[in-house]
Parts: sequence; C-alpha cells; structure tokens
Amino acid sequence: MIVIVKKSTAPAAVEALSNQLRTFGVDVHLSQGSVHTVLGLVGDTSKLDIDQLKTLECVEDVKRIQEPFKNANRKFHPLDTAIKVGKNIIGGGTVTVIAGPCSVESEEQIIEVAQKVKASGAKLLRGGAFKPRTSPYAFQGLREEGLRLLSLAKKATGLPIVTEIMDIAQLELFADVDVIQVGARNMQNFELLKQLGRTRQPILLKRGLANTYQELLMSAEYIMASGNENVILCERGIRTFETYTRNTLDVSAVPVLKKLSHLPVIVDPSHAIGVAEFIPPLALASLAAGADGLMVEVHNNPACAKCDGMQSLTPVQFDELMKKVAKLSAAII
Ligand code: PEP
Ligand code: MN
Repeated sequence: MIVIVKKSTAPAAVEALSNQLRTFGVDVHLSQGSVHTVLGLVGDTSKLDIDQLKTLECVEDVKRIQEPFKNANRKFHPLDTAIKVGKNIIGGGTVTVIAGPCSVESEEQIIEVAQKVKASGAKLLRGGAFKPRTSPYAFQGLREEGLRLLSLAKKATGLPIVTEIMDIAQLELFADVDVIQVGARNMQNFELLKQLGRTRQPILLKRGLANTYQELLMSAEYIMASGNENVILCERGIRTFETYTRNTLDVSAVPVLKKLSHLPVIVDPSHAIGVAEFIPPLALASLAAGADGLMVEVHNNPACAKCDGMQSLTPVQFDELMKKVAKLSAAII
C-alpha cells in the first residue's frame, strides 16, 4: 500500500504519520521526492481501512497495490484448493456436477430426481428446503421437512446434499447437510458469513445479483477469516440491461476468479439464464472456461414444479447434457 503525503507537510508530521501507521504492524518506507513524500507500507495491509487513512490531515491519497483479501488470495496460496465432500473432491482439476430440483417438494420427487441424476453422473444432490422468494405469497420451501427429505434421498442414493441456509438460526438443522449454500441474496449477509466461518462444513457461496468479483472474494474472506477454509465460489449470473434472459452469465468470472483465488469455482447456468433450452450450451461454455463444476436444476416434472420449472431440465435432458460434459471434460482435463 502507498500513502502519498500532502505537499508541504512538516517533517515532524510525516514522522508522526509513519509511527501511527507502524502501530498497524506494517513496515513503513519513506521516499522523499522533489514534490511529494510517499510512504510505502510493507506487510499485511489487509486490516488497514483506506477510506479512514484518506481522512487523515496530511494524507493526499492512498493506493492499494495488493487486493484486500488474504485467505482467499492465490498470491498467498498458489496451489488450487480441493475440497472433500463425501467421496468427491471439488476443485483441483476435477469436474463435479451438482444437480437436483430448485426446491424439495415431496419424498417421491426428491428420491426420483436423486436416483436419476445419480445415474447420469451427478456427484451431489441439490434441493432447496428454505427458499428465498421474491414474493411472500410464493412457495417458501418445505423447511425442516425439506431437510428431512433430502437426508432420505442421501440415504437412498449415497449422494451428498447441498442446500441453502437463509438464517444462522437454521444452522442446527444442517448437521446432515454436506455443503451449505449461501444464496445470491445473502452473499453480503456478513453476520451469517461470520457464523458460517465457525463451522467446518463446506460453503457454496453464490455471487450476488450485482456484486463484483472483489466483493464476492471479500465475502469468501469473511468465512475464511472466521476459520472455515472450505469455500466454493459460484457464478450464477448477474443483473444486466438484458431482459430476454433471467440474468446474464458472466463467463469471464471463471478465469478471473481462478486467477485471483485458489478456491474452486463452479457455475450455475440455470439461475443465470432461466430458460431450460439454453442451459446446456452455457454449461459447456463454463467448463471450457475452466470451471471446476456445475450446479444444474433438474425436475422430474418441470411443468408442475413449485419453483423455477422454466429453467429445470428433465432427467432425460440432463442425461444428454452429462454425455456432452463427459466428452468435454475428457478433452480439457
Ligand atoms: C438456488 O440455487 O436455489 C437459488 C435460489 O439461487 P440464487 O441464490 O443464485 O438465486
Ligand atoms: Mn431455483
């Protein structure tokens, strides 16, 4: 980090500023130019608040030369992180497909979908029990009963389960959940992130509807800084001016996040585009861009789905996609 000192600041004030900065545990190197004095801060600057430094009397400007996230940063952890979930490894050169309905609706539905996606090669089962819906009148999920049905599907198929948490008070119900999902709408629920940092269960952190890569990585940092290193990033489409599709898949997120961070990156093309027929090409594009996996919505009867039927693949369509995923994975791994 570089602190540019205001012109004509007295040497004693520069010295006082340097001493103040040292109290944050960084080394301060002074460069005296003909016009400006510049202080170079070396060490862990992630805890320094740029905006606060800028308010100091003798400070002209402050520039970060290193990203403000540390635990999630590839610079401090050059190797890919691989996260073990049951018998599966997510990240580190593997391709993992998570599939299942938007929401758990009944025992028959979740078990049938689980068996079918497993037969097609999915490694984890998804299904919402607590659903974040735009309308309070829409189906809110089966809640505790939904979690119980997911556990039954896990027992019946051996597939680990992924489901969304919306409030930390729900955590005690998530003991049998293999991957806890933080949805797009909660990406910046910092209290929730901090509490999830106290567990060791893997967290699937979805990018918010209008959040930058850095904001996503700072949210991952919240979880990691609280002690849980098992974070999987998920690109799920962002809001743009386009209204033809539900959101716009930001494929650029994949190579950029993988450059900035060592964490696995998976893509959810279902919520990105919102229309079933366009999901297979986006899924393949995401893997070609380097994604560590996919999360795809599959329903045994999309026309009658209680949530997101339009974007749900049938088991047959999912099976066709998985055949292409297998061919593409063989070509790119
Ligand atoms: C979901 O995966 O069910 C979901 C609600 O996704 P998102 O948070 O990305 O909208
Ligand atoms: Mn959905």
